[in-house]
Amino acid sequence: MNCLFCKIIEKNISAKTVYEDDRVLAFEDINPQAPVHVLVIPKKHISTALEITSEDNELIGYMFQVANKIAKDRNVAERGFRLLMNCNRESGQTVFHIHLHLLAGRVMHWPPG
Ligand code: AMP
Ligand code: ZN
Repeated sequence: MNCLFCKIIEKNISAKTVYEDDRVLAFEDINPQAPVHVLVIPKKHISTALEITSEDNELIGYMFQVANKIAKDRNVAERGFRLLMNCNRESGQTVFHIHLHLLAGRVMHWPPG
């Protein structure tokens, strides 16, 4: 499968790992949009949020727990942070392996662009 994030999981492409275990990987976004910009991905290939099924409920919840841990470790939990997942073209999804963006370290605007 020609998936960039699967290649990062398999270590065929390098990334700056922030956290890893048997279920998830978190790494620094290559083009950060905030002082903290980490991507949390499942090791299971799921191409978009639309492909998430009830089988993945535990995994998706766990991705949020990992993001929370990273936010605490980076000392942005109290200040605030944004977690988001783009789905399909109009949202701006460019990599079709789901990823939770953890953005923090500056004031976030709403509505998002
Ligand atoms: P999205 O637009 O929601 O699909 O997000 C994809 C994200 O992946 C973007 O923020 C990119 O900067 C990031 N990205 C793309 N290639 C890499 C890479 N090789 N290592 C780390 N982050 C990447
Ligand atoms: Zn993948």
